[in-house]
Amino acid sequence: MTTITDFFKEDIRIPSPPSLAVRILDAVKKDETSFNELANIISSDPALSAKILMIANSSFYNVAREIDSIPKALSILGTNTLKNIALSFVIAKDLRGSAEDGFDFDFFWKRALTAAVSAEILSPIISDKKEDMFVTGLLQDIGIVIMYLCRKDDYLRVLDEKRASSLAIEESERKIFGFDHQELGSEVLKNWGLPDTIYQPIRYHHGYKNIPEKLQIASHLLLLSDKMSSVYHGTRSAEKIQDIKKIICGDYGVVEDDLESIIDSVANKSVEILSYFEIDPGNMKPFSLIFQEANEELGKLNLSYEQLIVELKQAKEKAENFAQELKKANERLRDMAFKDGLTDLYNHRYFQDLMDGELSRAIRYKRPFSLIMLDLDHFKKINDNYGHPVGDLVLKEVSKTIKITVRDSDIAARYGGEEFAIVLPETELKGAAITAERLRKAVEQLEIETNGCRIDVTVSVGVTCYHPSIDTIEKSEILSEADNALYNSKNKGRNMISVYSNG
Ligand code: GH3
Ligand code: MG
Ligand code: MG
Repeated sequence: MTTITDFFKEDIRIPSPPSLAVRILDAVKKDETSFNELANIISSDPALSAKILMIANSSFYNVAREIDSIPKALSILGTNTLKNIALSFVIAKDLRGSAEDGFDFDFFWKRALTAAVSAEILSPIISDKKEDMFVTGLLQDIGIVIMYLCRKDDYLRVLDEKRASSLAIEESERKIFGFDHQELGSEVLKNWGLPDTIYQPIRYHHGYKNIPEKLQIASHLLLLSDKMSSVYHGTRSAEKIQDIKKIICGDYGVVEDDLESIIDSVANKSVEILSYFEIDPGNMKPFSLIFQEANEELGKLNLSYEQLIVELKQAKEKAENFAQELKKANERLRDMAFKDGLTDLYNHRYFQDLMDGELSRAIRYKRPFSLIMLDLDHFKKINDNYGHPVGDLVLKEVSKTIKITVRDSDIAARYGGEEFAIVLPETELKGAAITAERLRKAVEQLEIETNGCRIDVTVSVGVTCYHPSIDTIEKSEILSEADNALYNSKNKGRNMISVYSNG
């Protein structure tokens, strides 16, 4: 384990400051000649001059007139600002290694530049505007690069340990190096001759406690700038924003809406600045936009969820409609099988089954039921006189009359061509005879007209009743009883009812 002093004594690899940076710093220290000297130093490096002019004209400084020369930039932005811009360029360009080493220098400087932009933007908000905040923010982690450049393997161990143990980086540095990047960075920058306003707060930028009073605001500013940068270059951005909000809105009284536009402007300005440093910003965009996009994605999800519900509902309705159709179709099929197409009464086959059922039920419960048979009188003549279709019409009218005349519990069927049968459950002979007479009368009173002619229709009726107290009996016997009664009516002159009696 080394101390930071040992490290300085032993490690010859500690980078010396870029010579251009030294000359810039020297020039600024002198009081009188500084302006021209600084202008000359910067102008002697065409690439640096071009970049400085770009940055001087950027939205960052908001100058009204175009700045087209270094002296003009100096007079408008001031020596200190220009010195900071120049130092930033020179150091960020100089402190790099090869990419295959396992340390992502582009990512490091991208993070550092975003922290620099954040520090510059936050500085006037949480304190009186501090000089050098951009450079201080930019160089706060320079100790990391130096540790890495001096002892690559050790520093890769630091990074591994940090990942594995979720230690803060400065803690894992102290474990392996005996000191951390705050101390080293601060010390190196001091040795390079940078002003104490820069290197002193860097010494404490991860801390909250034990910070000398006069460095507290600047150190906190660095801490916040680092957090802000990691909103854009790290994970758990929303959580970090909450942390920042707590400090900036809580401790410094900034309104939340203002903070949101501050967080957005960090992204916008960083993208611009990164381009001057020729570092690819990647897909860096304002947090509100990221947030909005996330919400839109969420909205799409909700929408498709709602759509899904609608579609399910429709499918359900479709299925219900289908079931309804199926039920109707089945009912139609059953009707076709059981009912007579012309009169809509039950057909002969159904009547036969019905009689079987009714008879066994009557036997089981020892209950009576009656049977009425009726036949149209001289129906052949109607067909002959008016034609078959009129005959059909008469059959329909008589059927309707039967339906409305009998009780709901009575079941009427078309037994044959112009012959009908009615089963009357739970009905004694007397009641059945009354119904039969009512039917006869109703048909007699039917007013059927065709082509201005009135057609008179009458029926001959036979009635019988099955009573379980009497001997067992076959269905066919009951049917012929009713038939006999019917023919009795025919023989006696038609348009009348006859009741079967075995006597
Ligand atoms: P009765 O009084 O003795 O019963 O004389 P009728 O003419 O009614 O009896 P018959 O059995 O001699 O004639 C029945 C006629 O009914 C013969 C047949 O053409 C007709 N008929 C049977 N089914 C239908 C039908 O569905 N439509 C029509 N229009 N006529 C039918
Ligand atoms: Mg007849
Ligand atoms: Mg007949």
